[in-house]
Amino acid sequence: MTVRRILPIGHPVLRTKATPVPRSDISKPRVQGLIDDLIDTMRHANGAGIAANQIGEPVRILTVEVNDNPRYPYKPPVPLTVAINPELETLDGETVVINEGCLSVPLRGELVRSVNLRVRYTDREGSDHDRIVRGLTAGTWQHECDHLDGILVVDRIDPKTLSTWEQFKVHHQDAFVERITRFVAEIGS
Ligand code: ZN
Repeated sequence: MTVRRILPIGHPVLRTKATPVPRSDISKPRVQGLIDDLIDTMRHANGAGIAANQIGEPVRILTVEVNDNPRYPYKPPVPLTVAINPELETLDGETVVINEGCLSVPLRGELVRSVNLRVRYTDREGSDHDRIVRGLTAGTWQHECDHLDGILVVDRIDPKTLSTWEQFKVHHQDAFVERITRFVAEIGS
């Protein structure tokens, strides 16, 4: 159990396409230890999710968890999920504009995410999952899967909406939280 350093934008590993984890490696201590570190590091930083690239390991593993998150108080709860070799499929054209942040980027801003996704992944016990995720939770999955492809939020954010967290709080938070709270109530996720 170790809280690892979260690498900031500019580090080349954040621009590296992560490699798949062979199924036969999932039970190995190296992979299980990396998963433990991802969970500890995500929780320590109050992240809603984290991808292995962010702690310097370009392999296709991400974790997601939301539980009364002080960094993103409007996000609905998500139980701890460990996804190895995740695959996303957009189910339709429905989209939502989300103001997103990232543990590797000191700014946040607005981008467009798909609302309805099919996600397929293997968990840390080696079991396969295939299910639908929606709404802000779908946004979090897209964010973390982007990391595994070397894509950062700044590639998707409308540059005119970029803001520090401090200025977001002063000028944009109220309007965003009002809109997104209505959205979460409608979608239920
Ligand atoms: Zn991120």
